[in-house]
Amino acid sequence: MRATQFLIATVKETPTDAVVISHQLMLRAGMIRKLASGLYTWLPLGLRTLRKVEGIVREEMNKADALEVLMPAVQPAELWQETGRWFQYGGELLRVKDRHGRDFCVGPTHEEVITDLARNELSSYKQLPITFYQVQTKFRDETRPRFGVMRSREFIMKDAYSFHADQESLDQTYDKMHGAYTRIFNRFGLNFRPVEADSGSIGGAKSHEFHVLAESGEDDIAFSDGSDYAANIELAEALAPTGDRSAASAELTCIDTPETHSIEDVCNLLNVDAKNVIKTLIVLGAQTEKQIKAEEPAPLVALIVRGDHELNEIKAEKLTQVADPLVFASDAQIRDVIGAGTGSLGPIGLIDKGIDVIVDRSAAHCSNFVCGANEDDKHMTGANWERDAAMTEIADLRNVVAGDPSPCGTGNIEIKRGIEVGHIFQLGTKYSEALKASVLDQNGKDRTMTMGCYGIGISRVVAAAIEQNNDENGIIWPDAIAPFTLGIVPMGAHKSEAVREKSEALYNELTALGIDVFFDDRDKKTSPGVKFADMELMGIPHRIVVSDRGLEAGTIEYKNRREADKQEIAVNDIVDFLK
Ligand code: ATP
Ligand code: MG
Ligand code: MG
Ligand code: MG
Repeated sequence: MRATQFLIATVKETPTDAVVISHQLMLRAGMIRKLASGLYTWLPLGLRTLRKVEGIVREEMNKADALEVLMPAVQPAELWQETGRWFQYGGELLRVKDRHGRDFCVGPTHEEVITDLARNELSSYKQLPITFYQVQTKFRDETRPRFGVMRSREFIMKDAYSFHADQESLDQTYDKMHGAYTRIFNRFGLNFRPVEADSGSIGGAKSHEFHVLAESGEDDIAFSDGSDYAANIELAEALAPTGDRSAASAELTCIDTPETHSIEDVCNLLNVDAKNVIKTLIVLGAQTEKQIKAEEPAPLVALIVRGDHELNEIKAEKLTQVADPLVFASDAQIRDVIGAGTGSLGPIGLIDKGIDVIVDRSAAHCSNFVCGANEDDKHMTGANWERDAAMTEIADLRNVVAGDPSPCGTGNIEIKRGIEVGHIFQLGTKYSEALKASVLDQNGKDRTMTMGCYGIGISRVVAAAIEQNNDENGIIWPDAIAPFTLGIVPMGAHKSEAVREKSEALYNELTALGIDVFFDDRDKKTSPGVKFADMELMGIPHRIVVSDRGLEAGTIEYKNRREADKQEIAVNDIVDFLK
C-alpha cells in the first residue's frame, strides 16, 4: 500500500472521551471512528487488522472441522418466544417491528437460529457431530457501551454451535474447540489465560472463558502459578451460586430509566465512594416483562462496589434511587440474612424478599469469595481477595471434585485483570429441547441433540491486543495481526533518484513476496519525522529507511518497533532479512 493512496487518519491529540489506551490509540491511529454511542466505523487501517483476526479464526475453525454459515442479523421473535428468551433477555435485546407489525430482534447471539436450522436440516445420528460457525455482526444494547470497540453495541463475533448425539461427543468437540481457541490466541501473539467460568445450573456443564491479561480488563481472574487452575471471579455470578442460566442473565439485565439520579447522588446516599463502583445493576425481578412493556422505571437497584477501579464513564451513569439499601461486606453475610441453599441468593432472590443489594468490596480484605465455576465443590472459597498482593496460599483452593485433574500443585493464587475475548460453553439440551431439535438414533428413536456454543469477540480482540501492546509512541502490533507488517520510508526521495528507485524496487519485491508493506511515498511536505511518528502510532512492527547515505555505504536501515536500536543491513541481504 502506498501512503498516497491510503487514508492516513492519524491524530496527535488524545481524544478526551476515550478512557482506556486501546480506545485512545484506535482513534489516534485512524482505525475507527465513532458514529453514535457503541457504534463504530472501521476505517481502512482498522479493518486490515480486523480481517487478519478473522482470518486466523477462520483457519483454525476450518481445521477443527467447523462449517462456515452466515445467518441473518435480524431474527423473528417467534423463535425467541419458543425458547422463552424473548421474555428473559431484557434491555440488551434490540426489538424491532416490521411494517406488518411483526416482532423481530437484532441478534445478540444465534442459538435460536442455529437450532432452528439444525432441527430442519439434521435427521439422523449419522450426521452428528456437526459444528457450524459464522463471523457476523451482533447487536447488544449494552447499558454502558464503553472503551470503544471493547464494549460496543454493534460488534463482530465468531460464534460456533455444535450438535451431538450424546455427552461424550460434546466433550470431545468441546476439547477440540478449547484446543482451537488456544491456538488462535497463541497465533495472535497475545498473553491470555483460559479460565473456568460460570456454567449455570445445567448439570455437569462446562464453561471456559479466554481472557487477555490487561489492567483495563473488567473481570478479575484467579489462577494458580503451580497448576492449571484458573477461574473467573464474577461478582454477580458469585452472588448467584445456583439458579439457572436464564435467571443469571436476567440478573444482569439493566434498563435505562427516565427517573434517574446521578451515581454520585446514590453513592452519597449510601456513603460509598463513587470511585469504588465497578458495576451498577438495575435489577429487574419477576416483573421484568411488565416493566419493560410499561416502560416503568425499575424500582430496585443493586450496586456492586469494589476497590480501585477507575471507570470515569460510570460517573455519568444514571441510576434509580435506592431506598434503604443494605450494605453487605461478603457473600456469607448475604447468606446469613437470606438463608443458604435456596437457589435464590442472587440479586433477584434478594429483591424478591424486598431487599436492595449493595455489596461493598472496597475493603482491602473481602473474604469468603466464591470464584469461578459455580458448582458447589469446585471453586475457591474462603479466599481473600486482595488485588496484586494476592498471594493466597493454595490451601485455600479446596473441595476439588474427585476425578478432576488436581488443581493443587505447589504454588500461589494470582489474581489479575482480564478482558474476556472468548467463551466456550456446554449448552446441553436447553435449546434443542425448547425447539424440539432431535435426530433418529441407531434404534430409530427420537433423540434430542446435545449442544455446545463457542464465541470469540473478533472486534474486542483488536482492542485487547492494543491494551497489551503499546508504548508512549503508539500501538505495537504482533506481526500476525498487524495492519501492515513493514513500513518503508524513503529519505529525500524528491532529490535522489537512487532512493526513489531502490525504495520502489523494494516495495514491489517485498509486496510480491506477500508481505504487507506500507510504502510512505508522501512528498517532501511530509517530513521523515512525521512519517516515523505515523508508522509508530499505527503500530507497524518493522520499518526500513532507504537513504542516499545508506545506499552509498551499501546498507538499508532496519528498526523493529519493539527495540530501541536500529540495524544496518547490507542492501543485498535486506529482502532475505525481511521475509
Ligand atoms: P461480557 O461479559 O464482556 O459482557 P459476554 O459474556 O456477555 O461478554 P458472550 O455472550 O460470552 O459475551 O459472547 C462471546 C464474546 O463476544 C465475548 O467473549 C466477548 O469477547 C464478545 N463480546 C460480548 N459482548 C461484547 C460487546 N458488547 N462488545 C464487543 N465484544 C463483545
Ligand atoms: Mg455481556
Ligand atoms: Mg462475560
Ligand atoms: Mg461470556
